[in-house]
Amino acid sequence: MMQQYWTIKDQYGDAILFYRMGDFYEMFFEDAEIASKILEITLTSRNKNDETPIPMCGVPFRAAKGYIARLIGQGLKVAICDQLEDPDVAKGLVKRDVVRVITPGMIIEDELLDEKTDNFVLALAKDHDDVGISYLDISTGVFRLTESKDVSTICEETLRIGPREIIISNMAQQDPSVSRLIDGLSEKAVTVVDEKAFSYHQGREYLLEQFKTRSLEGFGCEHLRAGIRSAGALLYYVRETQKQKIEHLSSLETYRLDTFLLVDETSCRNLELLGNLRTGSRQGSLLNTIDRTITAMGGRLFRRWLRYPLTDVDRIMLRLDAVEAARNNSHTRNAVRDCLKSVYDLERLGSKITMGHCNARDLVALKHSLQALPEIGSFLSQFDTPTMEWDGDIGMFHMLADLLERAIREDAPLTIQEGGLIKVGFSEELDELIAMSRDGKGWLAELEAREKKATGVNSLKVRYNKVFGYYIEAPKTHSDAMPAHYIRKQTLVNAERYITDELKSFESKVLSAEDRRATLEYDIFNRIKGEIVKTNPSIQKVAQFLARIDCLTALAEIADQNDYMRPEINTDGLILIEEGRHPVVEKMIAGERFVPNTIHLDNHENQVLIITGPNMAGKSTVLRQVALLVLMAQMGSFIPAARSSIGITDRIFTRVGALDNLSQGQSTFMVEMEETANILNNSTAKSLVIMDEIGRGTSTYDGMSIAWAVAEYLHDLKGVGVKTLFATHYHELTALSQTKTRVKNFNIAVREWNDQIIFLRKLVAGGTNRSYGIQVARLAGVPDPVILRSKKILSTIEETERGAGNLPLFADSRQDQPAGPVQIDLFRKPEGYMISELKKLDITQMTPLDALNYLSELQEKVRSDSN
Ligand code: ADP
Repeated sequence: MMQQYWTIKDQYGDAILFYRMGDFYEMFFEDAEIASKILEITLTSRNKNDETPIPMCGVPFRAAKGYIARLIGQGLKVAICDQLEDPDVAKGLVKRDVVRVITPGMIIEDELLDEKTDNFVLALAKDHDDVGISYLDISTGVFRLTESKDVSTICEETLRIGPREIIISNMAQQDPSVSRLIDGLSEKAVTVVDEKAFSYHQGREYLLEQFKTRSLEGFGCEHLRAGIRSAGALLYYVRETQKQKIEHLSSLETYRLDTFLLVDETSCRNLELLGNLRTGSRQGSLLNTIDRTITAMGGRLFRRWLRYPLTDVDRIMLRLDAVEAARNNSHTRNAVRDCLKSVYDLERLGSKITMGHCNARDLVALKHSLQALPEIGSFLSQFDTPTMEWDGDIGMFHMLADLLERAIREDAPLTIQEGGLIKVGFSEELDELIAMSRDGKGWLAELEAREKKATGVNSLKVRYNKVFGYYIEAPKTHSDAMPAHYIRKQTLVNAERYITDELKSFESKVLSAEDRRATLEYDIFNRIKGEIVKTNPSIQKVAQFLARIDCLTALAEIADQNDYMRPEINTDGLILIEEGRHPVVEKMIAGERFVPNTIHLDNHENQVLIITGPNMAGKSTVLRQVALLVLMAQMGSFIPAARSSIGITDRIFTRVGALDNLSQGQSTFMVEMEETANILNNSTAKSLVIMDEIGRGTSTYDGMSIAWAVAEYLHDLKGVGVKTLFATHYHELTALSQTKTRVKNFNIAVREWNDQIIFLRKLVAGGTNRSYGIQVARLAGVPDPVILRSKKILSTIEETERGAGNLPLFADSRQDQPAGPVQIDLFRKPEGYMISELKKLDITQMTPLDALNYLSELQEKVRSDSN
């Protein structure tokens, strides 16, 4: 057996081998050591008494899914090695082989998948200068491909896709740009396959064979060699792991990256699109706030719309038209959404059924979903919007639903081999068999009564076991009373077991009826499954259609609930948001009123807005709000703004706050500067840049200088500049508007009252010259002595800055406290000091020597300061 184990294990070296033995999956050697730790199960050993016992652990076959899920969750692969013949019948060692390899990116079981997230496996390939990626989700049949010449663009795209598993070739692995990408994805499972799997010709052949076409023109990728290499490698990998053809991968979607608004991974995190910054959970994210989809497939599409907002005006308009129609007709919308509640995950159901991993309950779920279609269709026609109407044939769904209704029992069991699946009345042959086995039970009871009477032995029983089949059992003490036609079969301590000819002929009838019944039900089930597989391409299409309807009506729903308005879309680069609100913050500040703000950005006069204001005033909120509203508009959503016109934007960049990346060994300042560099190098005139407190991570003057230069650079970028919102607490930056024509100053208004600060949250034109940091510190609960002391230091610094001060003034005047040294150098400008000293000088009273000495002293001072 161990020999057989090794032959199989050798082929699946990178997977944990689940080796089926009876009711268990056993793992051996290193696999057992790894798995027992992760699964927290006991590590035992086989051949305990040998010199080198074999480490081993096992999990019950029926509970395997949960254990597999945990291993997959750790990025491991599991090869399922099953018994290929019935152990009761097999001669010698039972034949075994791997029937499927489950990897993090190759999952179809609902239990192992998140309902509203795609589960992608991605392959990356190079062809000369081109880099191609393709990715698929076998649980839904989604299969996409894209290409670029720019590796960093592909890296960004890979992050946006968020694959669970990546496949590269052993050659590509050595490419520095690819290995950088892989390093950035440390949590994902990386599978290295032989370069041969990435061959262009073979890949193309695989694809043609899979889609049953003669060219790839129809999929828009015939000319994309790198893309074809990657897609071919994916198909190769699917075959290797699934051990079957994947019929439901029936098409491939090629897309161009510039047809979508790109929000890079950092900005996605900063803007809290899918998860919040603190914990990463969905709570408080944009997705969580605006996703009102009902079906699982709608949920997955909604997430995609959010990550892939459009850049094509016509496509955005089509979505907005549909949302508007659904918003204005709440009655019909509610009716549609009600119907959607009975639609199951058609994409995943279809895939499970085609791959043969389904049971009768999946078919019942499919039936309910299909039965909802006519009603949904009739409601949708009331919207009177062509994009909301199903233009395909609905007849075949009727027929299929009808077939399922007639055939499949609602209360069918989870297994499909033991009968109980098919309704009475569906098949005459089956009904006869069922009657036979049911009647058989009654006949047995009758026989028992009859024999008791005939023998006079009341304790006589008719029983069944696997070895003898049906038999009569009677206590030994009554052996003599047994009639001659009873054939003794077995003697127990207290009883004898007999068979009779009558019982045997009954047995063969009944047993075979039960067996035949189960087999027949299984056959019928498979026939029906075959019908579904034939219809599956249409089921997948209707699933995508329903997902779309779900998203559109969900957008209408949220617009209605939260008072969002339809944005205008323009291509002039204007971003005008009147009375805009932050969609998430407005929901979080329960009880408080969210103050709406108006923002006007364009490429002519109001391109770089410098927004000043104290901490906590609402700078970040207004910045993110603009980014989120642009993104929502381009995904086809209404937005929280009284009126708006959104210019098509190609990328949104953000540099927000100081994220703590120390765990990855990078300093916050370094991260900040890398992000800034990325923005400066990649933004275009059509981009929107959000800069929040850049330069905070270093010393004041460094930070301010960098912030200043960055703002200037963005204003002058490629001679045309880029729309930028620049929040800063360096009020000095407001001076930029004097030299740069398209810079405008704004601040978020606050009022001071009784030494308290009141936030008005209103964005107003003009700069500020105060930062109110101490008032904010008090609000935050900093103890009074610290507040008082900082006020004192502040006034001293301010005095010095005005040139009236005396430098050694920074000593504490309160005698009861030790006078701590203050880092005055940080605050002091040598020029200010010199000017104030010069002002004090009375030259008429000085000799030339005095003057020279003084000059030397001054020089000395300045030199030592700059050290
Ligand atoms: P800053 O970036 O200026 O430090 P934030 O944007 O982080 O300030 O805002 C601080 C808090 O103020 C937010 O968490 C929110 O609760 C509240 N806030 C911000 N903008 C508004 C607004 N327009 N209306 C009401 N509350 C707001």
